[in-house]
Amino acid sequence: MNPNVNPELQNPKIIRTSFGLKDEIKPQLEQSYHSPLIDEIKANHFALQKGRLTFRLAQEFGFCYGVDRAIDYAYQTRAKFPDRRIFLTNEIIHNPRVNSKLKEMGMQFLPSDDSGHAMIQDIRKEDVVIIPAFGTPLKELGQLEAKGCILVDTTCGSVMSVWKRVDSYGRDGFTSVIHGKYDHEETLATSSRATRYPDGKFIVVRDKEQAGKVCQYIEGGGKREEFIQEFSKAVSPEFDPDRDLRKIGCANQTTMLSSESLEIANMLQRSMIKRYGEEVTCQNFRHFDTICSATQERQDAVLKLVQEGVDLMVVVGGYNSSNTGHLVEMSLAYCPAFHVKDATCILSREVIQHKKVFSAEIIDTAKWLPEGPIKIGVTAGASTPNRVIEEVIERIIVIA
Ligand code: SF4
Repeated sequence: MNPNVNPELQNPKIIRTSFGLKDEIKPQLEQSYHSPLIDEIKANHFALQKGRLTFRLAQEFGFCYGVDRAIDYAYQTRAKFPDRRIFLTNEIIHNPRVNSKLKEMGMQFLPSDDSGHAMIQDIRKEDVVIIPAFGTPLKELGQLEAKGCILVDTTCGSVMSVWKRVDSYGRDGFTSVIHGKYDHEETLATSSRATRYPDGKFIVVRDKEQAGKVCQYIEGGGKREEFIQEFSKAVSPEFDPDRDLRKIGCANQTTMLSSESLEIANMLQRSMIKRYGEEVTCQNFRHFDTICSATQERQDAVLKLVQEGVDLMVVVGGYNSSNTGHLVEMSLAYCPAFHVKDATCILSREVIQHKKVFSAEIIDTAKWLPEGPIKIGVTAGASTPNRVIEEVIERIIVIA
């Protein structure tokens, strides 16, 4: 074993490359996810005119490279092992259409326990298990390896880059402060890498408000019991805020709002300087931007679109898709924005069903489509197939 290479990448039983069946599965993928209408809109400078409606599509939207690869590998795995039981440790990506398609193809999703970890007791040696683009926690990976089953790992390279960061923080005795959702699959996987070494610790902060509480504690103004209570589910075992917030390194879930991640890192750095001074902070504070380029490009593109001016935004994506939610948040600063999962949400000309921003609630909003000529901006999260975007646009055209 090469001691300079991450041990996770050295297990020859874990398959991380294509089976060479790309051409075989291409027709299936095209049939399920491709959209001639979206191709047409892209060729027409990302615009479509239909009667009183002008659609403007963001210049970067939909499937990212990591999602493309994960779906590709899942289809190739089915083609390679037509007679074996195939399991996924979790949703392959956060899109209901894609996940139900995989179920139709006979793949099964492992149930999760209360903390979001896959339950693998029923896995047998002859089974195949696919690890999704978000990755899987180290403990789970070890249990799967021990089963001796075939593992197909579709973890995105951008997620692995974050792991590399938190791994180095843990090795050097830094606590990883991760901007993300503590129970999100990717963050569960990332935080597990922070504790690979004995001195490795982590704390997950959801937003600026929670980061503010960490800052307050660093500066010496926090109440220990309240702090421990607030972060009880979002810290490594036996986390001690008095001991574990002296040397910190920032990281983030790859799909967070990049501006917020940056602000959080700056807030933490300022608090470290206030408490320990510049010199010590130079030694005891680390930060690397770990937002993935696909997320950044989609956020930049939606900002450009809303700044150029649209009357409303329709953002298409699974309701549990973090990156889709952030595209909605950004749009809302400029115009009404509706997060829809698919065309069934366009109930009528009068009513749209959508996920409320900053909440899990699904609501109906009336009078969403103004009268007269209107410009509708459209974008989609990194896990949304073009076919679903096409159906949403077609449905709006029909009801308008
Ligand atoms: S959103 Fe980024 S990190 Fe996630 S799968 Fe796509 S490219 Fe990879």
